[in-house]
Formats: sequence, structure tokens, C-alpha cells
Amino acid sequence: MSSSHKIGFGIDFHQLVEGRELVIGGVTIPHTKGALGHSDADVLLHAICDGMLGALALGDIGVHFPNTDPAYKDIDSKKLLAHCQELIRSKGYQVINVDAALTLEKPKIKPHVSAMQETIAKILDISTENVSIKATTTETMGFVGREEGLVAYAAVLLEEIKPSKLAVKIKNESSFELPAYATSGSAGMDIRANISAPLSLLPLERTLVPTGLYMELPEGYEAQIRPRSGLAIKQGITCLNTPGTIDADYRGEIKVILVNLSNETQVIAPGDRIAQMVVQHVQQVNWVSVETLTSTERNAGGFGHTGKA
Ligand SMILES: [Zn+2]
Repeated sequence: MSSSHKIGFGIDFHQLVEGRELVIGGVTIPHTKGALGHSDADVLLHAICDGMLGALALGDIGVHFPNTDPAYKDIDSKKLLAHCQELIRSKGYQVINVDAALTLEKPKIKPHVSAMQETIAKILDISTENVSIKATTTETMGFVGREEGLVAYAAVLLEEIKPSKLAVKIKNESSFELPAYATSGSAGMDIRANISAPLSLLPLERTLVPTGLYMELPEGYEAQIRPRSGLAIKQGITCLNTPGTIDADYRGEIKVILVNLSNETQVIAPGDRIAQMVVQHVQQVNWVSVETLTSTERNAGGFGHTGKA
């Protein structure tokens, strides 16, 4: 099974020059210098974008937003972050949290951190407590210390979005609609008799009823065919060999063995709901042969040993 979490790391640098606005984390910060770049040069958002792309090995920010493309001239980097968000969503992932660090000598970042967190959290559809922004100086050392530039680093954790429903391939050659859940909490779907004329069942007679449905279950799943309580109580009709199992590698038509347990002839009409199907996760086992089993308080107790009440 593949991992459902991915980690990414992003980094970005910009020069600091006079005559430019300083935009960090989507927030415009009053300062004597601003970051130089083709876009608005938002170093923090670029590092986060880079980390998001990196987590899914989608290349770096320059690949997605080339600084030679006029479309990105002076662009608001919030748009780039939103684009990365769409991209990872389209790959089936979402951001869990971001931990970012800025290095710059001036100005003080702390007063702007909560506004940055809000901006980023909103675009990434996460809460502000999952957006960490730290800032440090380099103690006047290097290009950062000389106020020639600034750097941002970002670690980004992504998680695969689990589909809430299992996708199952089905071929419907019946005259009826696909089986469907009657309510949002239903475990089973009713399946219908794909017959062209009414079918009579004598008392204790059994018959195989076609459904016109063919399915391809993912490995590790089975579909159980179970009787319907309404048919059982009203007509005495139930399923034999129940619960019947449709294996993941079965590709034939799904058929239901019905039996009439009443003492009167019962009629099944075309399209009648004859059984229900429940799809379940199953686990195959590997046998581990041993001489003795671990003992328990109960040991061999069974077959009614706990009494009647
Ligand atoms: Zn950048």
C-alpha cells in the first residue's frame, strides 16, 4: 500500500532593493526596501508553493510559473499559491500543515505574522494553527545581514484525500437502473430481478434469478448477497446460500438463488427488488502452523457454555 502522507521542502531567495513594495506571506509590510522579482516577489509564498510542488515531485516553482512569462509579471503570489492548491487537490492531496522560516535583517516580522497565517490558511483551506511562520535575522552576517536580500524556507505536509466511497466498475445489461442506497446510512443496495415476464415460485421451489449486472470489485473486497426482510415476512421468499459472496475476481453475471418458504405460490415481477448487496472489506490470511495455541480464560468454552441468560 502506498503512503498517504508526503512531505515537501521549499526554499526561495529575493534581493531587497529600494523602490519596491515588500510583500511577505501575502501581506504588504511598510519598509524602505522591497523584494525584487518578476512577480510581487513574495518570498514566503514562493517557498510554500515550492514545498507543495516538491511534496508531489512536481518540479519547482520556476517550472510552473516561468519568470519569462508576461502572464506572471507583477502577479500577486496569492494567485500562485491558489494555483498550487488546485494542483495538489487535482492530484488527490491536501495540505495538513506548513512550517516556514524567514531570514531577514529588517523589518520586524512578528506584528504581521497573524495576518500572514490567516492569508495562507484561507488559501490552503486549513486552520491558522496549522500555519507556522518563524523569523530570524542572521546576526548581521552575510547578504541577509547586509540587508541585500531575504530567504524563506518551508516544510509542507500533504495527506492523500481518501474518497468516502469505493469506486467499483459495473456493467449494467439489465432493463433497470443501477442498484442504489435508499438512504445515506444504508449498508446495502437493493438489486432487481432482470426478467422479462413474471416468474412463479411454488412452495419450496428454488430458482436462479438473473440481475443483468456484472461487476469488478477492487482486490480485498467482496459483495454479499443477502435476503430482503420485506420479501421474507410478506411472501416467505428468501435467498439460499446466504450470504452469497461475489469475489473480486468474478466477472460473470450476478444471479440470486431465491426460495419460496411459504405454502403458497409466490410471483416475482420484472424489476422486483429480490435481494440486497453489501460490499465489504475482506482480509485473506496466511496460516501459521503451530503445536499449541495461546491459552485464554475461556479456552475451549463454546457452544452455549455461557448459559441461557
Ligand atoms: Zn520567489
